[in-house]
Amino acid sequence: MVGIESLPPVPEATSAAVRASMKANRRRDTGPERRLRSILHARGLRFRVDLPIATGGGRPVRPDIVFTRARLAVFVDGCYWHGCPQHHQPSKSNVTYWRAKIARNRERDRLHNRLLTQAGWTVLRWEHESPTDAALVVGRVLSEGRQPMQRKLP
Ligand SMILES: [Zn+2]
Repeated sequence: MVGIESLPPVPEATSAAVRASMKANRRRDTGPERRLRSILHARGLRFRVDLPIATGGGRPVRPDIVFTRARLAVFVDGCYWHGCPQHHQPSKSNVTYWRAKIARNRERDRLHNRLLTQAGWTVLRWEHESPTDAALVVGRVLSEGRQPMQRKLP
C-alpha cells in the first residue's frame, strides 16, 4: 500500500474569493458530473454513483460513475483539485497547503488507477472535455468490451 503524506492543517478561507473557489471546487456532484450522468442516462446506460469498490489496497475506491458489469470506473476530476496541466491556477493564498493538497490528490489518483486496473477495471478520468464528448468515449468503451486499462477522456 502506497503511503499518502499527511497534510498541513486546513486553512481558514482567507477571503470571500477563496471561499467561493472552495465552494465551486466541491468534490462531489459538480455541474459537469451531473451533466455527464444525465447524458449517459438519456442514452439508456445504467450505472452506479459513488459505489465503493474493494481493490485489496486498503480503503475501497469510490469512482464517481461505475458500470459494474463492464467493470468501467469513471472519475470526474475537475481541473482545480487534480492539478490539470492546462487549467489549474495555483492558489495565491495558503500556497503551501494547496500545493500539498493537489499533490496528494494526484498521488491518490495514480494509486486508485493502479489498484482498479490491477483488479481488472477499466479507468476513465475526465477533466475538462465536454460532457457530450465524455459520454461518447464512455459509450465506446462499453461497446468495445473490456480490456483493463487507464485512459484519459476523450
Ligand atoms: Zn483542465
